Amino acid sequence: MSDSASDVVIAGAGPYGLSTAAHLQNLGLGVRIIGQPMRFWAENMPAGMYLKSEPFASSLGAPHRGMRFTDRHPDWRLGQPIPLDTFVAYGRWFAAVAIPGTENTEVVNVERGGGAGYTVTLSTGETIAARTVVAAVGVGPFAHIPDELAGLPSWLVSHSSAHHELGLFAGKEVAVVGAGQSALETAVLLADAGARPHVIARRAELDWNTVPEARRSLWKLARGGPRSGLGTGYRTWLWAEQPGLVRHLPEATRDRLVRETLPPAGSWWLRDRLDDRIRVSTGRRIAKVVEEEDGLALTTVDRTGRRLVTEVEHVIAATGFVPDVARLTMISPELRARVTTRHGAPVLSRDFESSLQGLYFAGLAAAPTFGPVMRFVHGADFAARRIAHHIIRRTPRRRPSAGRHAAVLEPDVR
Ligand SMILES: Cc1cc2nc3c(=O)[nH]c(=O)nc-3n(C[C@H](O)[C@H](O)[C@H](O)COP(=O)(O)OP(=O)(O)OC[C@H]3O[C@@H](n4cnc5c(N)ncnc54)[C@H](O)[C@@H]3O)c2cc1C
Repeated sequence: MSDSASDVVIAGAGPYGLSTAAHLQNLGLGVRIIGQPMRFWAENMPAGMYLKSEPFASSLGAPHRGMRFTDRHPDWRLGQPIPLDTFVAYGRWFAAVAIPGTENTEVVNVERGGGAGYTVTLSTGETIAARTVVAAVGVGPFAHIPDELAGLPSWLVSHSSAHHELGLFAGKEVAVVGAGQSALETAVLLADAGARPHVIARRAELDWNTVPEARRSLWKLARGGPRSGLGTGYRTWLWAEQPGLVRHLPEATRDRLVRETLPPAGSWWLRDRLDDRIRVSTGRRIAKVVEEEDGLALTTVDRTGRRLVTEVEHVIAATGFVPDVARLTMISPELRARVTTRHGAPVLSRDFESSLQGLYFAGLAAAPTFGPVMRFVHGADFAARRIAHHIIRRTPRRRPSAGRHAAVLEPDVR
């Protein structure tokens, strides 16, 4: 017997969970959204970070007008990077206005309940009987540490998402493995905090994004393609703005898209900050790691086979996130075993539903199905709309909620 009941339980209050909750509540469903709003952003991204995504591509999804990042900050220009704190505050404002009652706790177990639904257990011990569960747990559970670095103690090797405050590395030699924005920005922020960072990357050289142009001539527009939430270009526009079509591509093409769209590169505004305080070794892969008394000896090899041993006190793996249902321990082992997966990620319907009726996945876990936009905030509105409208078709309808926002916001008829 459960303590309470709800039409939907959403695990995770990041951009995807909050957007989905906003759409569902607007449709009049009883929704419990579990998690502190924007927790991953506030606690697992480095203090002092700026967003890579442009302001127009950094909005949560809402059924009403007035809730986009650029509505909240109308003067924010293209090419003006958003500080982490500003984005967290926007997400929390969105939660406060659009979703009454987020719950600052965690989902610790999801299992089959009586009938067709689920029993969701919270860290408070409360159990909820829910028809539907949306796993919007983001990237955190999928932090990827490469095999060469795996299994070492966390005081020697950690994932970039383990850190918010980098000041604890002041005075230390720290290797940062990776060549993407997260690696490069972590290295810069480490240097700012008084550490001695050393970027080690497999890529032959670092890549940098260019400054977005606010105004483009018709010729440039025709040649370069439209601007979209993932960047400029005809194909990029398709992946960013039409994720529903991506799902119809052959699996191998989608895999390639997720891997190769937006390859590791730093933002243009970060380039000058990656100065001579930061050592950079490109074209090197880690071949061997030996634990020493006060750190690690990293042996790296370049393309010609030349070896180099570097001694560091800590390694930060800025090596990304790989979706894998097996790592979602909040879902009971029995249920996880019944979710159809491909390369670890859930196989999803056009409405983000897994092979288990009533169990949905949003965010990174949906990227192998809907493409690279699911790795970014920009995909949240699409995911939220699809999920909400599918759930409402399956659930007996109640009176539409008179949410706190209803009086001040007009319906968004997009
Ligand atoms: C360093 C870094 C920089 C990034 N910069 C950008 C950027 O500039 N622009 C962009 O679009 N994307 C960026 N991303 C990607 C970004 O993480 C995703 O776009 C975004 O967070 C997706 O939203 P989400 O809701 O899926 O995930 P999240 O924001 O991770 O939210 C999921 C939430 O679920 C919570 N949660 C997990 N498990 C449970 C549980 N069992 N119970 C309850 N809650 C749970 C987590 O605490 C988390 O708060 C960046 C990622 C990193 C790591």
